[in-house]
Amino acid sequence: MIRLNLILGLIILGITGVSGQQIFSDSKYPLVDFRSPLAIVPPALAGSFGELRANHFHSGIDFRTNQRQGYPVYAIADGYISRLRVQNSGFGLALYINHPNGYTSVYGHLQRFSPKIAQQVKSIQYQKKSYEIDEFPTSLLIPVHKGEVIAYSGNTGSSGGPHLHFEIRDTRTEATINPQLFGIDIPDNIPPVIYSMYVYRLNKKPFNEFTPKQYFQVLGGSGNYRLNSVNTINLSGEVGFGIVTTDRHNGASGLNGVYSIELELDGGLVYVSSLEKFEFENSKGINSHIDYPTYLNTRRSIQKSFVDPGNPLKIYSNLVNNGRIEFTDGKLHQLKYTVTDSRGNKSTLAFQVQADNKATINSPETETGEVFSYATANEFSNPDVKVIFPKGTLYNDLNFIYKKLPKPATNAYSAIHQIHNKFTPLHTGFQLWIKADSTLGKYTDKAIIVNTGRVSQGGYFEDGYVKATPRSFGSFFIAVDTIPPSVNPVNVTNGKRLNGISKMTFKIRDNLSGIKSFNGYIDGRWVLMEFDTKTASLWHTFDNSTSPGKHILELIVSDMKDNNRNYSITFYK
Ligand SMILES: [Zn+2]
Repeated sequence: MIRLNLILGLIILGITGVSGQQIFSDSKYPLVDFRSPLAIVPPALAGSFGELRANHFHSGIDFRTNQRQGYPVYAIADGYISRLRVQNSGFGLALYINHPNGYTSVYGHLQRFSPKIAQQVKSIQYQKKSYEIDEFPTSLLIPVHKGEVIAYSGNTGSSGGPHLHFEIRDTRTEATINPQLFGIDIPDNIPPVIYSMYVYRLNKKPFNEFTPKQYFQVLGGSGNYRLNSVNTINLSGEVGFGIVTTDRHNGASGLNGVYSIELELDGGLVYVSSLEKFEFENSKGINSHIDYPTYLNTRRSIQKSFVDPGNPLKIYSNLVNNGRIEFTDGKLHQLKYTVTDSRGNKSTLAFQVQADNKATINSPETETGEVFSYATANEFSNPDVKVIFPKGTLYNDLNFIYKKLPKPATNAYSAIHQIHNKFTPLHTGFQLWIKADSTLGKYTDKAIIVNTGRVSQGGYFEDGYVKATPRSFGSFFIAVDTIPPSVNPVNVTNGKRLNGISKMTFKIRDNLSGIKSFNGYIDGRWVLMEFDTKTASLWHTFDNSTSPGKHILELIVSDMKDNNRNYSITFYK
């Protein structure tokens, strides 16, 4: 039955997407199976599905929790806890529930789990001697019922304020799906806002930081927008368009993402993007979806309406020539953007283009290097450096530029190798090998690759090279990390009486390679230390196992290069 609904849904999706119709289908997903994960009325969103974030699309919706933690979080339907996850960053404390209808619900940044789940988590943490865990219990271990309190909302992990991060995934494929398509009612009657429109002179070339672009201010409101000061734009040759648009929700002041963007040329669609669902491995494709060079320069996200050939996202449909439009016929053309939010509120921007051969703007002449194809693996090497780009790293063909620059004055064991530049986004990491100077000597075990901002890219020494996998282009050299992490007590001092204090807190930091592990022992017995990356806080919450009297706490904090800090204090309970 579930399979039949899926097939029916696919057929329905197949016949929609025609201009003027609802581009998302209500009948594709179950609308009555799930309740809201919170009881806050009315529900409001601080973040929408597919919202544009740094290096990823937001994979769920963020429910507002009135700037507070501790709201009960409910199982949205019957099922079982299929994954228990505790992370220093990311989702922090998170729960996954598999439901019999084929979907998995995910709850992140939780403050704490319900007592029965918390007990399971703590016993796993003690068994594995690790704060971070990622467990996949069987269906028998923790069954849950619709409406059961499973946790309390919080701010753990890389959360920027109290809220509930909530996702619905396809259990089989793990693709994440827009939760607003499941009938979870979030009132919103405010249409998206369109701020500006851009024209890119593509001229049959790959898009990059040199592509000439023109800005057009947009005016209007309440769903109707127009260009300021011009009604007709004169263009020649092959161009692409882009817009800056966000959505606002009732009861929320923040700016959220839109659901879909459609571009029509003379009444026919040439580009549609819609955030119904996406695969996690494609989420970094956001840097191809937007004008990435402009984003790096201004933090403004222009959503391009033309698709790079190596863009793996499956959010596009109705593409004509990948959204690249030729204006060569000397005629007047009608263009129209329609932007829709997840509740179906729409805004439009219409304008005219006069195809005019005198309006050509050519791309500038640029430095030429080796041409790398987006469709294949690519390699570059010389006696000092080797770079390997797996297939699927690039979104466009690249004119690859390499330069060797002088070695920095301090903590450097190679020249600086400029590997292209940061304005070209990469979908995956690339292999970077840098030949080490003879001065590296006894520090080979401590060597890493850093960028010129001295941010560690990780790495290890092998066969005369330090090898790492940076995730973006930049300028890199070899440095060493010989300094162990620091440990600073927050609410304890040596010999202190801790009666009435529920937890001991410390700050731990590392100067370069980053913290790999931390372990705490009271009188030689391993105890759970909890850690929050964003505040650098490490703490132990006392339980019955620490009896009244004198105790010794020992902490061992290690960085990625195995520099260990041993710290101990005496305290009294
Ligand atoms: Zn979120």
